Amino acid sequence: MSGREIVLLSLLLAAVVLLCWQHCRIRRILQRLDRMLGQAVSGEFCEQNFDESMLSAVESRFAQYLAASSLSARHVQQEKQSIETLITDISHQIRTPVANIRLYAQLLSEQPLEEQGRVCVEALDSQTEKLQALIEALVKTSRLETGILALHPVMTGLAPIAARAVEQYLPRAKRRQQVLMLEPTAERAVCDPKWTEEALCNLLDNALKYTPEGGTVTVRVQAYEMFCRVDVSDTGPGIPEEEQASIFGRFYRGENAYTEQGVGIGLYLTRRIAEEQGGYLKVSSQPGKGSTFSIFLLRG
Ligand code: ADP
Repeated sequence: MSGREIVLLSLLLAAVVLLCWQHCRIRRILQRLDRMLGQAVSGEFCEQNFDESMLSAVESRFAQYLAASSLSARHVQQEKQSIETLITDISHQIRTPVANIRLYAQLLSEQPLEEQGRVCVEALDSQTEKLQALIEALVKTSRLETGILALHPVMTGLAPIAARAVEQYLPRAKRRQQVLMLEPTAERAVCDPKWTEEALCNLLDNALKYTPEGGTVTVRVQAYEMFCRVDVSDTGPGIPEEEQASIFGRFYRGENAYTEQGVGIGLYLTRRIAEEQGGYLKVSSQPGKGSTFSIFLLRG
């Protein structure tokens, strides 16, 4: 072997050794980065290298980033709490005067009044009732949105939830000569019973409110592969297609709604309830042919 070949071979060998060393180093760094991310996810990250190396610098930056983000998460949580407290305080303060206004309006309505006075008292009472509903809806929405009022979905039978909701609306349906039916079901789904009942009540409230006297409202449960679908169908006026995307928005009221009581928050809240438990809310409707609102709930 000539001297030149020996030099070349040595250089090749040195290059191979250098490559192997680099490879091992990068592997070690990647493994450490992987461990760091794993520890960060489980909240157990702590610095291990305190030297002049690049890895130590990365670790220290990472630790700073985690500290800053956990601080900002705490701030966000505190802000949510204070917004919630503010809304609760304001609504508590408003509740009493609003209840008093209703009481005085009622007392006034018992007095001998002229026609115009009577109209004004009725308007006063209905506007105050609206204000009361608005405050209640505001508190519920704010609690859902700030995550203060968390839902606790569990696997549960849908029949008792639907039955409780329907029962609350039977007297009203009877007063308006409407038929309110619940089809029997043995289906089960993952949902928070209390909030799902609330969502169903919102749909029933709308169905009875917008359906003229003598109409029919039906609650039906159907099971699909992944979801259970709870339908509330009515024989009311239906909803024009161009309005269907807007009705789930906050404070949206349809063209047909202004003759009825309401504040435009029921469907928004219902959709939030469905989504908070992994489901969704859908509407299918044709003007003149009634509407069906469907809450989809996970089956497992
Ligand atoms: P609100 O009933 O207080 O107006 P919602 O958020 O519950 O508010 O409903 C939003 C709008 O959707 C209503 O104003 C109405 O126009 C329409 N809507 C909801 N449910 C029905 C229904 N069953 N039939 C016809 N229109 C409906």
